[in-house]
Amino acid sequence: MGRPATGHTPLRTCRVCRTQSPKHELERWVAVSETETRLDPTYQLPGRGWYTCKQADCSRQAIKVISGQARGLRARRQKQAQATA
Ligand SMILES: [Zn+2]
Repeated sequence: MGRPATGHTPLRTCRVCRTQSPKHELERWVAVSETETRLDPTYQLPGRGWYTCKQADCSRQAIKVISGQARGLRARRQKQAQATA
């Protein structure tokens, strides 16, 4: 009785606390451009996505963590560009 409902539910990892949860229990964030990160309530926006759980702490840190990662990618690209210039 009470089989876990996680059988074929895809799990995603919260980017902030690293807890795994079924996709639809998480919020999806998408980097729509190199400078803009947006909440994706439809889970369908194209682009690089990140998931966070709905704990207040994680929601609060989501933008910071995610935009930091987007910045990291951009900085690395700039560094490469400078190295070859
Ligand atoms: Zn979390």
